Amino acid sequence: MKLLFLDQSGKPGGAELCLIDIAKPYRDRSLVGLFVDGPFKSLLEQHQIPVTVFATQPITVRKSSNLFQGLGSLKQLIPLLIEVVKTARNYDLIYANTQKALVIGALASFFSRRPLVYHLHDILSKEHFSKTNRQIAVTLANRFASLVIANSQASQTAFVTAGGKPNITTVVYNGFHPQTYQIDASTVQELQQQLGLQGQFIVGHFSRLAPWKGQHILITALAQCPPEVTAILVGDALFGEQDYVQQLHQQVVALGLENRVKFLGFRADIPQLMAACNLIAHTSTSPEPFGRVIVEAMLSGTPVVAAKAGGAMELVEHGVNGFLVTPGEPQELAQVITTCLMETENSKNIANHARFTASQRFDVKNINQQISQLLKQWEINIQK
Ligand code: UDP
Repeated sequence: MKLLFLDQSGKPGGAELCLIDIAKPYRDRSLVGLFVDGPFKSLLEQHQIPVTVFATQPITVRKSSNLFQGLGSLKQLIPLLIEVVKTARNYDLIYANTQKALVIGALASFFSRRPLVYHLHDILSKEHFSKTNRQIAVTLANRFASLVIANSQASQTAFVTAGGKPNITTVVYNGFHPQTYQIDASTVQELQQQLGLQGQFIVGHFSRLAPWKGQHILITALAQCPPEVTAILVGDALFGEQDYVQQLHQQVVALGLENRVKFLGFRADIPQLMAACNLIAHTSTSPEPFGRVIVEAMLSGTPVVAAKAGGAMELVEHGVNGFLVTPGEPQELAQVITTCLMETENSKNIANHARFTASQRFDVKNINQQISQLLKQWEINIQK
């Protein structure tokens, strides 16, 4: 089966990193079509996954756009659609990996008469999307997609609540390569030294810098923790959240935490950095659709504390394989951080258990098998 994957982004967010693992087994008979150029294209090339950039101009529709603003972007969408339709005729199936990819993929599926699979990496709720965008996504998926793969039960439930057909959806979690997260002690020591953090209790936050990812919550919590607790913020503002970045820097200065917070920007050495942390904090203030960083933290053998909402609740069982705190509550987070600092033995046991269970539950081999079976099963149904 020849697959045409579509993704709107030029930057590697969680959905894009997941796509690399999904497209890899199909790389001798697939193409990834992006709607904008950027570092994600190079990353696909590094993995020898064929990739092309369809659009020359970024599409200006945002998650919050209304119908009027959406219609205004038709001028950009039509040339892109024509390109995608032409290309899709050489493939058996269109696999849309993002919202805008769904819009183009649905129309391309209609014009090229190719079936459509939609991988849903979002929670279609009012916290994340305007009403118009939710309606468009659900209407197009219901009308054109033969299969909707949701990245968590939380994403699936939100899709159905927004009017999505339950009988076309199924849940498949993201897959990971557990061996990538086995880092030796000398690498960890070297990295801690490079960062000037030896002897500190390091709390890592791994996410793009965006208000709903809640880096400000961690900074507020840090001010309530003992002085040996230091935070590293790993990630960049991927989608233009520069005002938030400025606010974070101002907050650090206002709280006198200049020596206890390090902004490391976007990094490719996530497993090494996670292994160098004593605790990893996930602080999203809106429900997280899945939360790749939570699983990665588990695979690294580092204790993880996550905001209790959305997909995070399917990944973490409080006190068993991690800790859960109320979203947007820095005081509760500070308490967990301080407890982990004091009771290292208990949190280490929890982290070891998490590492063992996550490496089975999220092994990319099993996850890819699930996707391949779904596509095969669904191919048989289409041919009937
Ligand atoms: N990530 C990365 N470099 C960074 C920060 C984050 O490679 O500097 C990765 C992180 O390891 C995770 C992904 O970006 O795999 C983020 O996925 P997640 O599901 O946590 O959030 P999303 O970006 O999808 O909202």
